Amino acid sequence: MGEEKRNGIDSYNVPQEVSIYDMWSYNTTMEELGDKPWWKLPEKFSSLEEVWEYTKSKEYKEKNLSREAIKIDPEMACQPLGALLAALGIEGTLPYCHGSQGCASYFRFEFTRHFREPVMEAASSMTEDAAVFGGLSNIVEGLQNAYALYKPKHIAVFTSCMAEVIGDDLKAFINRAKQKGSIPEDFPITYANTPSFVGSHVEGYDSMVRAILEQLAEPKEEKTEKINVIPGFDPYTANIKEIKKLLNIMGVDYTFVPDWSRTFDYPLGKFEMYPGGTPLEEVKNAVNNKGSVIIGKFSLKKTAKLIKNKWKQPLQAMEMPIGIEFTDRFIMTVSEMTGKDIPAEIEDMRGIALDAMTDAYQRFHGVKAAVVGDPDIVYGVSKFLLEMGAKPYYVVSTNGTKKWQKEMQALLDSSEFGKGCKAYAGMDLWQLRSLMYEEKPDILIGPCDLKYYAREFDLPLVRIGLPIMDRFNLHRYPIMGYEGVINLVTFIGNALLDHFDRICPEVNFDKLR
Ligand code: SF4
Repeated sequence: MGEEKRNGIDSYNVPQEVSIYDMWSYNTTMEELGDKPWWKLPEKFSSLEEVWEYTKSKEYKEKNLSREAIKIDPEMACQPLGALLAALGIEGTLPYCHGSQGCASYFRFEFTRHFREPVMEAASSMTEDAAVFGGLSNIVEGLQNAYALYKPKHIAVFTSCMAEVIGDDLKAFINRAKQKGSIPEDFPITYANTPSFVGSHVEGYDSMVRAILEQLAEPKEEKTEKINVIPGFDPYTANIKEIKKLLNIMGVDYTFVPDWSRTFDYPLGKFEMYPGGTPLEEVKNAVNNKGSVIIGKFSLKKTAKLIKNKWKQPLQAMEMPIGIEFTDRFIMTVSEMTGKDIPAEIEDMRGIALDAMTDAYQRFHGVKAAVVGDPDIVYGVSKFLLEMGAKPYYVVSTNGTKKWQKEMQALLDSSEFGKGCKAYAGMDLWQLRSLMYEEKPDILIGPCDLKYYAREFDLPLVRIGLPIMDRFNLHRYPIMGYEGVINLVTFIGNALLDHFDRICPEVNFDKLR
């Protein structure tokens, strides 16, 4: 078995007799593991099977839930990954990671696997010597090469752990690069510190959005009639298209920033180094627009402060428009801010979404869901579930804050269907597993990392959020707006029916559902 494993067992070729314990010891047999000091069963257990069973117990659950010193299977990524997404939403922008090559590759691969598109990013490629002497020469040379080779219109610099640990001064380094002639003095470079040992990809995204808006801003005396629409971290190209569609139907004049809807969604057969993105001129002018709407109230705190306190713009920081009520609220907010009426076409779209909800309502009623993901996305999806009479029983956000937990719990408590439902900030998936052994939900909703738990508990999984690496095209189906409501009904409702068809007794196996 040892040889066989070393030769590679994966995906479709896993023999039936290979258990999860074998997968754990992928490269080494139990005999080989022997009594190596790092691998010893605690005395009270005589086999790995016993340990596995113990992890399902109430006693283990208490220990697991009180664990603080380590996260196991957290559902979040690090700050620079979010910064990369923000940078990719600006016209002609080359994202630049001041840090090590491996980190930069990880961020690119994460998005490439999720969107199935190439991702542009340059890096300082810091190695051991930079860790000792600092990354100044890396960034001076790196920016010079990036500018000369890739001919961007703007470079957005962010940091990985390494640069942050040694304390590289980004602003001074970029100025130095300009003084040394690596890049022209007037070339636009924005920068944000994105230390990965605090926060998550959501905070990194926020920092980069703020940095781009603040550092490119060209304030003028006169205000425009436009509004800014600023999305929170959102791994769907279709959400952006859907929101823009609603704004266009309303006849609103807006700047959508950042906008990566084209970056990750362009036709096969032609290569563009920098497809899409919010036009740079619009980004520079965002400061002069008459107001801003942030969609994702937990995602963009630093950006909100910039707009409110420094730009002194009227600001609405609201929930992501997921589900009927939050979409209504978005439409009404934009209408109030711009003075535009809500056209009949939007009322029609809303009516169709309500119709889809009503068609499926009886299948959702009372269904218990575990909802996992970024704070804003789970907030919106939970609201949708409550609107459908379902129960978001476990709402888990590893990168959720205490404030998020409080507001999430208040949302659950505001509905009769939220009874017994609970929000968990900072929880990881291994802890959720313990909860599920005490009370099993009916469905899992969240990123593809949940598939291991879906398999273990024999539950349907609806993939929502980031990452989704094991299914095609889901980023092309919006979960926001009225179209998003229809998609959520379709994804979740059909997953419930598929599961029911699979497990129901023969007598209930019917073509009519
Ligand atoms: S956590 Fe730090 S080391 Fe790991 S990928 Fe992120 S930036 Fe790199």
